[in-house]
Amino acid sequence: MSNELLSIAAQFQTPVYVYDANKIKEQYAKLKSAFNGKDVKLHYALKALNNVNILRILKAEGAGLDAVSIEEIYLGLRAGFEAQEIMYTPNCVSFEEIKEGIALGVHLNIDNLTILEKFGNEFGSNIPCCIRLNPHIMAGGNSNISVGHIDSKFGISIHQLRHVQRIMEHYKIRVNGLHMHTGSDIIDADVFLRGAELLYEAAGYFPDLEFMDFGSGFKVAYKEGDIVTNIDKIGKKIAVSFAKFCESYGRDLELWFEPGKYIVSEAGKLLVEVNVVKQTTSTVFAGVNSGQNHLIRPMFYNAYHHIQNISNPSGDEKLYSVVGYICESDTFGYDRLLNEVREGDVLAISNAGAYGFSMSNHYNARLRPAEVLILDGQAHLIRKREVLEDVYRNEVELDALKPV
Ligand SMILES: *Cc1c(COP(=O)(O)O)cnc(C)c1O
Repeated sequence: MSNELLSIAAQFQTPVYVYDANKIKEQYAKLKSAFNGKDVKLHYALKALNNVNILRILKAEGAGLDAVSIEEIYLGLRAGFEAQEIMYTPNCVSFEEIKEGIALGVHLNIDNLTILEKFGNEFGSNIPCCIRLNPHIMAGGNSNISVGHIDSKFGISIHQLRHVQRIMEHYKIRVNGLHMHTGSDIIDADVFLRGAELLYEAAGYFPDLEFMDFGSGFKVAYKEGDIVTNIDKIGKKIAVSFAKFCESYGRDLELWFEPGKYIVSEAGKLLVEVNVVKQTTSTVFAGVNSGQNHLIRPMFYNAYHHIQNISNPSGDEKLYSVVGYICESDTFGYDRLLNEVREGDVLAISNAGAYGFSMSNHYNARLRPAEVLILDGQAHLIRKREVLEDVYRNEVELDALKPV
């Protein structure tokens, strides 16, 4: 693998995102088969990684999409998904945008009472909708990525069900699904099941359900020994509890999930090159040709991303802090044991498939990297490296300020 990555770095230059199609398919298959025979529907959350080729791999595997913006819906349609295969879960977007999504024919997930009223007023019983509930359970420890807690802006509180019911009855709204997405990083099967049970209880308010959507939060390993979501354990438990619920509800509902990270995180690496090795009084820095503009998770979420020196795999191990070239303290990893790093070496940053490229930006007027996909044993360019013009493309130059 290291040699393959080195030749990709040589062929396509760095920094470059590299994705492995086989790993994506493998993760999809693992999740799909974890539910003990229950045929779950997986809507891939494309905010994790939205390159059209990645979307088409998942389309071919049988996935649908979870979109959080009208733009993501259009990306999904462009990739070849049918509108009916797309779940639209907006938060704090305008009602105009929601109507645009409805006109396209996607499934709509409503997470706010005023939107539910506007929806009812406009569409009544003509178009069904799903309700996003906040069960107020805590998953994981980082408040940035736990979206189910009491102060979260996401979802309608499970304590507001009577209010939902009044709106629903007044406008004759047909609620066809219940949804929860409790955050990224579910480690404890029982926490997840507790959320599911709250949704089962809530189902009593909704006679027209066709599906339940348990969102995502499946955790993958970022470093050796990481506790990860035990997908088979959760799958088996959910399958049993869901079957029981369907029996008492009186109808066999569909079971949906919206994995992002689980599908693509481990399939991606960011390859960067060491520009400088800088020894200070206390630390040896490896300064690379990338930064928070390309991969912001370490700085934004304090996320651990494993780093390897693929140019010198047998070099003596030494401690380095791997930092970016942006004028911020953009540290990819503190005090990492790496095989001796020399200027010009290529480092591979792991778990870069999810929320890597899709969160990249132009800060410091830097260009976004290229993306490469390994498909059937071959490396293919799937996004060109940007050029300077991409940074100022939409600027409007005022004549009054032009140099004469
Ligand atoms: C982000 C998001 C997901 C995917 O979360 P992962 O942690 O990447 O699996 C699923 N559903 C919704 C509504 C989301 O916003």
